[in-house]
Amino acid sequence: APAETDYDVLVIGAGPGGYVCAIRAAQLGFKVACVEKRATLGGTCLNVGCIPSKALLQSSENYHAAGHDFAAHGVVIDSVKLDLARMQARKADIVGANVKGVEYLFKKNGITWLKGHGKVEGTGRITVDGKPVTAKHIIIASGSDSANLPGIEVDEKTIVTSTGALELSEVPKRLVVIGGGVIGLELGSVWQRLGAEVTVIEYLNRLVPGTDNEVASQFQKLLVKQGFKLKLGHKVTKAEKTKKGVVLTVEPAAGGAAETLEADIVLLAVGRTAASKGMGLEEAGIELDKRGRVVTDAHFATNIPGIYAIGDVIAGPMLAHKAEEEGVALAEILAGQAGHVNYDAIPGVIYTWPEVASVGFTEEQLKEKGTGYKIGKFPFMANGRARALGMTDGFVKVLACEKTDRVLGVHIIGPCAGELIAEATMAIEFGASAEDIGRVCHAHPTLSEAVKEAALGADNRSINI
Ligand code: FAD
Repeated sequence: APAETDYDVLVIGAGPGGYVCAIRAAQLGFKVACVEKRATLGGTCLNVGCIPSKALLQSSENYHAAGHDFAAHGVVIDSVKLDLARMQARKADIVGANVKGVEYLFKKNGITWLKGHGKVEGTGRITVDGKPVTAKHIIIASGSDSANLPGIEVDEKTIVTSTGALELSEVPKRLVVIGGGVIGLELGSVWQRLGAEVTVIEYLNRLVPGTDNEVASQFQKLLVKQGFKLKLGHKVTKAEKTKKGVVLTVEPAAGGAAETLEADIVLLAVGRTAASKGMGLEEAGIELDKRGRVVTDAHFATNIPGIYAIGDVIAGPMLAHKAEEEGVALAEILAGQAGHVNYDAIPGVIYTWPEVASVGFTEEQLKEKGTGYKIGKFPFMANGRARALGMTDGFVKVLACEKTDRVLGVHIIGPCAGELIAEATMAIEFGASAEDIGRVCHAHPTLSEAVKEAALGADNRSINI
């Protein structure tokens, strides 16, 4: 590295991994710059990911509730109308406020935003749009992009990724989602609630792989009840644009006769790939794995001295909060502190209706590991607050060690599951037992009582069931 550098810490990418790392590094006294090529800060998450999708999920949920659920509360609305332009404008305002917020935080913390494309040259050296910049520590936080599928050409108008699916100006009559993962089901839900007929084509014989089987199968039933059409165990081999829309060729994954399926809009949501190309990584000799992810050690260091990587561009769940934790941990490690991420306590949430949230091990994983476990389960049907809300679908499932009672995994499908999982994550982080959760006083009537009751259930001590 050069003896005198422009910055102490140089972060490439201002997504939740990069911007959080930059702020934490600045708090720790480093002179920090962050390179971002997008016109706004915040990365995928704030611009075209978590935030706009949650804005549309909320709006579409409200629209659907006004048309379908309010009457049961005695609230009669004669005609519910959709103003999609306004819904989209609201989403854009929310995104705008969030990305401006990051800009403010950069100013507040004295972080320089280097606008442009960052390219790694080697230890201590990068270029931004060709201009050399030096730093003691370089952090790659370039995130991820939507994965492609052979035979399918995305135009972001009729064949879209999540980015185009967030921008539709009309509700499609028929939306076909390729991929039954989190992003496909969330955005499928948005357009289904707004009136689209949604078909999900998934290669595997189940949705949301990796989710606890019992939760996933309940989830699947509820989506079908909502009107989702599922084509599991199928693959799309071709997408042809026509005057009216798209004709898809679909084949059984196990082999068999092909069929065609028509759609007005096709959403390609088959996962995301690390954004590690075109930024000099290979030329600089930085090791990438088979999936193009930057290889790092337990302290986020690459094989090249002084160059680190965090977030979606490295291994692990592609989640904003995982990227953030890594950003904080790395800044602290660079400051000589003991930064650390506990990968056993990273919650995952699917923001559909109902929500699905989990943390820790699934029952299948515990079986595979040969760990003895106890199960406590509690249905929202038996929870007073869920009944008052009229949201009784789903349950909480607590998995605890058979011998020690330590909480090993919590899986929730139901109202506000994404909020309820925080308590379970805290329990796992603190090494709590199921009894610990069961002995904590939970306010009544709240949905969180279902978590307490499920924890009690691990010892056959549930009160209300
Ligand atoms: P990113 O957010 O991808 O940011 C990387 C940034 O680096 C980008 O702004 C990019 O422009 C910039 N960049 C890349 N290369 C260069 C370069 N060479 N020079 C300059 N700049 C560069 N996660 C959740 O936890 N919860 C959710 O609800 C959720 N919803 C999602 C919904 C959708 C539709 C999508 C697509 C994703 C969602 N995610 C969600 C995933 C989440 O967005 C990512 O996990 C997260 O953004 C990863 O953060 P990151 O900092 O690693 O990278």
